[in-house]
Amino acid sequence: YAKKTGPRFYRLFEPPMNADLIRFVETREALRVALERNEFELHYQPQIDLSTRRVIGVEALIRWRRPGVGLVMPGDFIEVAEESGLILPIGRWALYEACQQGAVWGQRGWSNLSIGVNLSAVQFREGQLGEDVLKALDASGLHPARLDLELTESTLLCHQETISSTLTSWKALGIRLSIDDFGTGYASLAYLKRFKADTIKIDRSFVQHLLTDQEDRAIVKAIIQVAQSLNVCTIAEGVESFELAEQLASMGCDQVQGFVYSKPLPPDAFEKWLLAAEVLP
Ligand code: C2E
Ligand code: MG
Ligand code: MG
Ligand code: MG
Repeated sequence: YAKKTGPRFYRLFEPPMNADLIRFVETREALRVALERNEFELHYQPQIDLSTRRVIGVEALIRWRRPGVGLVMPGDFIEVAEESGLILPIGRWALYEACQQGAVWGQRGWSNLSIGVNLSAVQFREGQLGEDVLKALDASGLHPARLDLELTESTLLCHQETISSTLTSWKALGIRLSIDDFGTGYASLAYLKRFKADTIKIDRSFVQHLLTDQEDRAIVKAIIQVAQSLNVCTIAEGVESFELAEQLASMGCDQVQGFVYSKPLPPDAFEKWLLAAEVLP
């Protein structure tokens, strides 16, 4: 039948673009434009030290202020950004922006606040990340010890050979390394030692039901014990009640982050929050 209708109708017989592919292409194009038009924002969520009840750090989380749509969360676009390679310029922007903001807060008196930046595995594949980090520090004047780079277990697994030298050079500068979503991936505990992580971020999925779920409590306890014996700091993600923070403190967890303290906020709102949060419950 295809032959009969001739080459003019060739396209009719190509596999149809399915809905997923169409959505991917549309989002990719929209992200490209968003980057040009500066539509990305970083919001900041505080990290609290459980022994002093003080804010010791902040995590930068990206959002896309999409015209006609509103605030788009990373869960709705990071994957497309990674698959299209656009995470490279977007991630670079986030790194620079976070360092810049951290430097500004340093000048305003919060000079010990660490600045957490999420890195994608794709950024390691490209090979320019090591240099980008140095440039972002240089351009902003942020002290390297205040930068806290967050990687996931899968990033470590993906790039076992190539990642080591990059991480070693960052460590030599005093940059901090955190393993994000810890417990959800397949990295072995030996990775903690090998990559000299400063902090383990215990994934929200283990934290959220800690008060009622015995198994989650056992998992979190085990993570904290290993971390302590390796001299690695622990931070629990997704803390939504003070009762949960108390429980984590009693289990020996070092830090917490979660909605009970604050949702991620735009920079000016975060600064107001910081001013009001001199002493926390
Ligand atoms: P993540 O790095 O694990 O970030 C923590 C996520 O948990 C954030 O979601 C944060 O808003 C949310 N969260 C914090 N406290 C609570 C809580 O008490 N309850 C609940 N239910 N959620 C809480 P968000 O901002 O939507 O970010 C999702 C993920 O997107 C991040 O997970 C990270 O993997 C990725 N992401 C965010 N910003 C960037 C970025 O600049 N670059 C890259 N590559 N990935 C990013
Ligand atoms: Mg993170
Ligand atoms: Mg996480
Ligand atoms: Mg995550």
